[in-house]
Amino acid sequence: MNLCQVSVIKGLMAEAGITFRKEFGQNFLISPDVPERIADECADSSDTVILEIGPGIGCLTAELAARYRHVVAVEIDSGLIPILSKTLAEFDNVTVINADCMKLDLGRAIADALGTPSLDGITLAVCANLPYYITTPILMHLLESDLPLSSITVMIQKEVADRLVSPPGKSDYGAITAVLGYYGTVRCLFTVPPGCFLPAPKVSSSVVRIDLPSERPIAVSSEETLMRLIHAAFEMRRKTLVNAVSAKFPSIGKDRLAEILAELGFDVNIRGERLSTADFARLADRISAL
Ligand code: SAM
Repeated sequence: MNLCQVSVIKGLMAEAGITFRKEFGQNFLISPDVPERIADECADSSDTVILEIGPGIGCLTAELAARYRHVVAVEIDSGLIPILSKTLAEFDNVTVINADCMKLDLGRAIADALGTPSLDGITLAVCANLPYYITTPILMHLLESDLPLSSITVMIQKEVADRLVSPPGKSDYGAITAVLGYYGTVRCLFTVPPGCFLPAPKVSSSVVRIDLPSERPIAVSSEETLMRLIHAAFEMRRKTLVNAVSAKFPSIGKDRLAEILAELGFDVNIRGERLSTADFARLADRISAL
């Protein structure tokens, strides 16, 4: 069964009595070389366990199952579950879970699927064609989770991908860029035009791979302070860093913050969007030490 063929997708959905649900960001891939390439490039070893978010009718899931140890696929739309049990019937290394990935205990669900008490010693990677309406929250959720992920490979809106790889000081640079810099490195693998999806979205998409080394690329004394600081800086990105941060860390006071910035060699009127993740980490260390 060619799961990227429009007539096959429409046939399966008609048989199940369902239609595309815009509120779930359903744009299914109809170009077979795209799921093949994503699956090829999302992990380095066939022993990897893959967490897929939003399998849809299973075109990427099937490619992943053919290459890797096990696929745990979490799909929110219950209408797609009977379709997935048909399209993935030939694989005994796929577990489909009908749930919202933001609400599920992902670590527990993966361990249960593998029949192991914990994820110790398991190489785990995320691979997904993400629903656009919730891309950034899902990425933040995965990065800030305690899942032992070695990488995250996702298809996202090109515009969001541009943000992920943006250098500090550019308009694309945002909280997600700075947060990502703490956890790992990101690279854009390739771009996919709207015509590769059914229904076609309005914008182009990009596939990005985020590599997450077990040892963080940047050291910081309090991860929590660093994250609070980054979120504070970008919540009010038009304000100076002193104003934005003092609103969220009222106990420090603007004058003390300005002094710390000056001691670290920054202009006291600098905006948060000009700081790299390493800069935020230096500032977070000074704040933690107060
Ligand atoms: N993987 C399929 C493909 O590439 O053709 C479908 C990708 S489609 C862009 C996004 C999928 O994510 C849909 O199947 C949608 O129902 C599912 N989805 C949306 N929100 C979700 C959530 N919060 N948790 C799990 N799945 C979700």
